[in-house]
Amino acid sequence: MKGENRVESNKSERTLFSIEDINSRVKELGGLISKDYKDNNLVVVSLLRGSFIFTADLVRKMTIPVEIDFMTTSSYGHDEISTGNVNIIHDIRSDIKDKDVLIVDDIMDSGYTMKRVVEYLKSKKPNSIKICVMLDKPSRRKVDLSPDYVGFTIPDVFIVGYGLNYGDYYRNIPHIFTFD
Ligand code: 5GP
Ligand code: MG
Repeated sequence: MKGENRVESNKSERTLFSIEDINSRVKELGGLISKDYKDNNLVVVSLLRGSFIFTADLVRKMTIPVEIDFMTTSSYGHDEISTGNVNIIHDIRSDIKDKDVLIVDDIMDSGYTMKRVVEYLKSKKPNSIKICVMLDKPSRRKVDLSPDYVGFTIPDVFIVGYGLNYGDYYRNIPHIFTFD
């Protein structure tokens, strides 16, 4: 039923990054990536669903030609908690052979999702693969992998908004927040 996955009313929202914080950081990232890839054939691979907002903002801050594609993964168990068992349920459509791939995701937590995606995309023989995430929670990492571009490094808190969900909702909230 509509609204049933909304948070209980006794929890309060705490903003971690405002719309202004996000805009200025995404602009910086877009500039940096444009500089780093100015002589390359860049393909952004956006991981759905969480990264749709970040990707849309980031690619509009890029000033170089860029191909954009999407991939969906699923992990067993709860949507927000990865296990080592990550499946690719929707593949990219672009041919990335000999191209420079930048994987874009909302958040890197355990890193299981990213590791699986990197290994999978490597089998398609791109020229290079790098990782860009809006949020990084390094204290939660379970694999030996770090993002190359990070919006904000955060402690171990559960994030909502700016593409990130709680239950079925909140992805459309334009700032980044947590519940206390
Ligand atoms: P990982 O595989 O790195 O553990 O996490 C991958 C996915 O788990 C992220 O792409 C995201 O969808 C989800 N996730 C991880 N941490 C959070 C969080 O703090 N909030 C939300 N809403 N999702 C998260
Ligand atoms: Mg995700």
